[in-house]
Amino acid sequence: MENEMPVLSLVIPFLNESGNVARLGEFLRRMEAEISTRFGLSLETVLVDDGSRDDSVAAFRRTLTGQWKIVELSRNFGKEVALFAGMEHATGDLVMMIDADLQHPYAVCMQLIEELTSDPELDVVYTIRDDRRQESFRKDVASRLFYRLINFQQRFTMPENAGDFRIMRRAVCDAFLKVRDKRRFNKGLYAWAGFRQKGVAYTPDERQGSTSRWSRLSLISLSLEGITSFSVIPLRIFSLLGVFTGICGLIYGAKILLEVLFYGVAVPGYPSLMVAVAVFGGFNLALLGLIGEYLWVGISETKDRPLYLARRIHQPEQGE
Ligand code: UDP
Ligand code: MG
Repeated sequence: MENEMPVLSLVIPFLNESGNVARLGEFLRRMEAEISTRFGLSLETVLVDDGSRDDSVAAFRRTLTGQWKIVELSRNFGKEVALFAGMEHATGDLVMMIDADLQHPYAVCMQLIEELTSDPELDVVYTIRDDRRQESFRKDVASRLFYRLINFQQRFTMPENAGDFRIMRRAVCDAFLKVRDKRRFNKGLYAWAGFRQKGVAYTPDERQGSTSRWSRLSLISLSLEGITSFSVIPLRIFSLLGVFTGICGLIYGAKILLEVLFYGVAVPGYPSLMVAVAVFGGFNLALLGLIGEYLWVGISETKDRPLYLARRIHQPEQGE
């Protein structure tokens, strides 16, 4: 009887979240009951252990009820890859992704399911984090700039602050799994995939348990990931800058030559040389670094390693 109901797969990556196991278990039981009566859906929970060093897995095994799976990765692969592993193991007709730290409010989860199930033309309902409380002005400007740069001259637009917290139909999940990018910048991939998407604004709850695992450095490196896998604009800017400085150099050279030939002006040596060396050297180094970033993306793709390795798949024991 249960098998006749369409299934909602809930994909939840976690890293050392033992402090949230009980709360999440409660959350899941509540959801299982509500979606079955309200939407006629049954729940499949797909947890992905992204290399936890605490006893999260054992705790989840004790707490979870109903249909569940824990994909235990062989080490920490990062949230983006953990999500991919979860999607690969999700069998539901609808797939929703949430965090294990309960920052995604229960009511919003329900709203996402409601929006998607009530409109057959929709394929994805994603969320837009509407939360600038603790974000500094500087970070705000940086994030604006990032989206400007990455969306410049693209055929698709990445919505600002749209996260992994979203629900999608089977077809979208399958399409997403076909993308084998090694360096996954999810935000870009979601936008790139297209489909009929709808955004819903929400304010995240305070994080439960420990603190956020995103340091400033990891945010910067994620932004670079996004830019190098979705934009050639930085390379173009540097090419144009190179042409421009080259032309300036030529003009300056011609001017010096004319002055020497016709007016006999002595060429000021050391200062102008040093300026030129510093400017061109700096540009060269910057561009080399940038090309290196893109090259590194290329290298990772050609190595064609699997995206992740699973150590074990945990499932409810028979007869449970
Ligand atoms: N997470 C993960 N692998 C990581 C880092 C985080 O699976 O390498 C999980 C984490 O357990 C949580 C979710 O991803 O369920 C979001 O992480 P976090 O709360 O630290 O990020 P934020 O909410 O600040 O975006
Ligand atoms: Mg969080």
